[in-house]
Amino acid sequence: MKCLVFLCLLCASTTSGNGSPKVIIVGSGPAGIAAASRLIQNGIDDVRILEAENRFGGRIKTVRIGEYSTDMGAQWVHGEVGNVGYELAAPFDLVTKVVKPGDTQEPVYDVLFVDSSGTTLPPEGIKDFVGAVGEFEKNISGVDDLRTGSYGEYLRKRLNDFFGEHPEIQAKFHKPLTHSIELVMMAIVGAESADDVSALGVKNSPPCFGWRDLNWKEKTYSTILDILMKRYPNADEELPVLNKIVFNKRVIKINSTGEGPVKVITADGTEYTADHVIFTGSLGVLKADHEKIFEPPLPEKNKNAIERIGMGKNGKILIYHDNPWWTHEAKVPTQVIHNFLWTEDDRKLLENDPERAWMLGLTYGFEVEWRPKLFQIWLSGAHLEQMEKNSEELFKNQTLEILDRFFGNMYNLTEPTEIQRSSWNTNENFRGSYSYQTMQSVNMKSGPAELGEPVMRGGIPVVLFAGEATEPRYYSMVHGAIGSGWREADRLINLYREKKSSE
Ligand SMILES: Cc1cc2nc3c(=O)[nH]c(=O)nc-3n(C[C@H](O)[C@H](O)[C@H](O)COP(=O)(O)OP(=O)(O)OC[C@H]3O[C@@H](n4cnc5c(N)ncnc54)[C@H](O)[C@@H]3O)c2cc1C
Repeated sequence: MKCLVFLCLLCASTTSGNGSPKVIIVGSGPAGIAAASRLIQNGIDDVRILEAENRFGGRIKTVRIGEYSTDMGAQWVHGEVGNVGYELAAPFDLVTKVVKPGDTQEPVYDVLFVDSSGTTLPPEGIKDFVGAVGEFEKNISGVDDLRTGSYGEYLRKRLNDFFGEHPEIQAKFHKPLTHSIELVMMAIVGAESADDVSALGVKNSPPCFGWRDLNWKEKTYSTILDILMKRYPNADEELPVLNKIVFNKRVIKINSTGEGPVKVITADGTEYTADHVIFTGSLGVLKADHEKIFEPPLPEKNKNAIERIGMGKNGKILIYHDNPWWTHEAKVPTQVIHNFLWTEDDRKLLENDPERAWMLGLTYGFEVEWRPKLFQIWLSGAHLEQMEKNSEELFKNQTLEILDRFFGNMYNLTEPTEIQRSSWNTNENFRGSYSYQTMQSVNMKSGPAELGEPVMRGGIPVVLFAGEATEPRYYSMVHGAIGSGWREADRLINLYREKKSSE
């Protein structure tokens, strides 16, 4: 009986003449593109993608700087085994762990810690330190003994133990090194503060096995979107996804009340209808706008998850040099990672300087793989929006100050040719970088799985959620986003398969 009612409702909701449902996808990031490609490949082709920006890709964004195309958002494929991104790219030999063109050896990372007075920390103990930090991250233990359960507390505990056993690292460097490692972990986890992150959450979502960071050689992460849409490797096999995207359409209302189709309204007043809507906007967008967008209001489960999961703040500065200052003669393919440390005095000064406090989020700087004239600075942390808001002139002067301060002693600096910055945190279509699990989302079981539960009407999913923040294991990453898009497309494909087989 239940099944019959369900099928009748399904028939009533199907508006397309050929029996194929009408689907609107909100957002053309990897989740939206994956969902659309999967639906179209499975015969559900009455699909429209509404995209707020004037481009597709979302937090995958290729920019031009100097002679290069490079990534302003997602950059590395994180892990191999079970990573759909890797599985899509590897057969075409598109990604590699090799650092520089032509090199075939394993990459070697030299990690330097440079402080705000331009001093490079003495090498004693640093190699052990870097190795130990890698170990803390991989083998998280003692979570039950933590007072708060936070990743910040966990890290500080392990670091204090390490410093106790390594007197060769001078006490004056303990605090700056601790700050620096917290920032590195925030870059990986994507949080404003390591104290907001659940240690158990990090433990329960280890990266995919295999090499941790694979790069796209001269290409960028956008290639994955071309593979999903089958534009790569053979453009003749391209699925009709791009022509289904309507750009500059910010969705401000999704109304699923009543019996009829779901109404979707965009900021310019255009109204669309569909049988199903897959929402893929970021957790930042949901946090800011879910109460305005969804009518009726979202179920408690989804609402709680939106509040409890955290949205991180991360960003990049890209610096292109015609004459790079960091070039060095290396016998092996070595990439030098420069970790930034603030002296305690400089830290206090910055904390009281609103226009410059974002510099406290400087995490590390390095030459971008396959782009020997491009230096990238990674940023994490609470004040990042200010960097995005500062005028272009102020931002550029501040970047020059950073280079001078940290690297002026070590290198013969040359003038940058071009400087660019990201704006993920102030852009209203993203409002942050990527999601992380807080103590609340983990302890209250109010996380990605709950966020990803569809809104049902008469047993049918009418509003569905995809996007990195809805993926229980691989949240925060592109492969999580792709998997979530496929998951929601499959939900609809299976629904209509069931309908067909029962006819
Ligand atoms: C600086 C940075 C570096 C990163 N590095 C990596 C990395 O190295 N490796 C990795 O795996 N991941 C990385 N990520 C994370 C990765 O980019 C995301 O996990 C992934 O892009 C999320 O995809 P998505 O489809 O869920 O969301 P998005 O990519 O955000 O796509 C959502 C789309 O929805 C649109 N949208 C939002 N609101 C609306 C609305 N109301 N109406 C219409 N459209 C709307 C947006 O414009 C966007 O195009 C990085 C992210 C950042 C910011």
